[in-house]
Amino acid sequence: MLTSRPKGTNDILPGEVRKWHYLEGVIREICREYGYSEVRTPIFEHTELFLRGVGDTTDVVEKEMYTFEDKGRRSISLRPEQTACVVRAYVENKLYALPQPVKVYYAGPMFRYANVQAGRYRQFHQFGVEVLGSKDPAVDAEVITMAMDFYQRLGLRDIELHINSVGCRKCRPVHREKLQSYLASRVKSLCKLCQSRFDRNPMRILDCKEDTCRELSREAPTTTDCLCEECAAHFEKVKKYLDDVGVNYIVDNRLVRGLDYYTNTAFEIMASDIGAQSSIGGGGRYDGLIEEVGGPATPGIGYALGIERIIATMERQGLEFPAEGRLDVFIASLGDKAGQEAFKLVYDLRRDGLAAEIDLMGRSLKAQMKFANKFDTSYTVILGEEEIEKGAAVVRDMKSGEQQEVPLDGIKDYLLKAVGEII
Ligand code: AMP
Repeated sequence: MLTSRPKGTNDILPGEVRKWHYLEGVIREICREYGYSEVRTPIFEHTELFLRGVGDTTDVVEKEMYTFEDKGRRSISLRPEQTACVVRAYVENKLYALPQPVKVYYAGPMFRYANVQAGRYRQFHQFGVEVLGSKDPAVDAEVITMAMDFYQRLGLRDIELHINSVGCRKCRPVHREKLQSYLASRVKSLCKLCQSRFDRNPMRILDCKEDTCRELSREAPTTTDCLCEECAAHFEKVKKYLDDVGVNYIVDNRLVRGLDYYTNTAFEIMASDIGAQSSIGGGGRYDGLIEEVGGPATPGIGYALGIERIIATMERQGLEFPAEGRLDVFIASLGDKAGQEAFKLVYDLRRDGLAAEIDLMGRSLKAQMKFANKFDTSYTVILGEEEIEKGAAVVRDMKSGEQQEVPLDGIKDYLLKAVGEII
């Protein structure tokens, strides 16, 4: 136990972390361009927030939450997603008093006690955005195009965008009634979970993954069949915006977000080549949610993308992640005096912004040179006793192999200039 991590969690090791840094860089860049500011909320919240804000009939809340009582006997849950947290922060900090809409993004760990398999973890990471305060279909189209733009910048191929509209508080009951009357004579053939959903939340039956439920819901009335005029017009506008900027989509009538406060647009992005867990992101509009958690009636929309699955898809597609961990200068030294000189020089170089390293393992000079090579080092400084006596060191340009003797009192400036030239 001591040396094994909890099931469903991952160590992101130094060799891997550059991929995360790369993604985080792209996230920051795209959010800057689209005008989204970062928000950071706590990793745990009062359980009630998720019961209300995600919904107590969802698998995520019903079966997968990490819930515990703290020492003050409050029920606390690790966040299984961040939309509810952002909405809570919006209400608690009165962000509705700011110019609207408020556009925010987040990136961080989420926790779900899920059945672990490739692409499904118990601690995983999401990048997500939320836009609070606008009903405009241009916002729906903006968040969708932004998600697709993000995948495109990473170079991902063969991804599909599925969209649907689940209607509003006016047209949802119409669909619910039609669906229930269609399913009424078939309830016994549904899976156990869907049988319990029949009364509580029948729409969720439409996206159940069980074969029998899928079969039964194939002919079931869809949400788009029941849209009111306003919702139908909203959906048409969203599609028109997507068409105008050339974002391809598939209208998927089975795609639902089964909570009462999810409204209008729902979407999901699939990658075709990552196996069973093919969803690499999804989102939708939730015009009733802010009110549900105690705020003023405010529309909202957002999405969340799974970072582990995006990295897995990039790897499968053979996409490159930029290299990290390059060294500008390695200072190889032999003997105490040279070691002291090397320590001073590495300190100075780092303070001037170079990535510099010395030997910390008492290696031979030859082994130090080998070590420097591993890091794709630009320059190696060789400092032996002889060099110290001469007051000069040998600097080797690792690309060309050329060597030059440089006086110690000018070596810092020499290296700064040399590295500056190759950057
Ligand atoms: P959701 O919040 O369920 O709509 O999920 C949004 C995205 O997060 C999904 O498309 C996945 O890419 C990712 N995701 C959800 N659950 C997990 C999980 N247990 N492990 C890894 N990624 C996940």
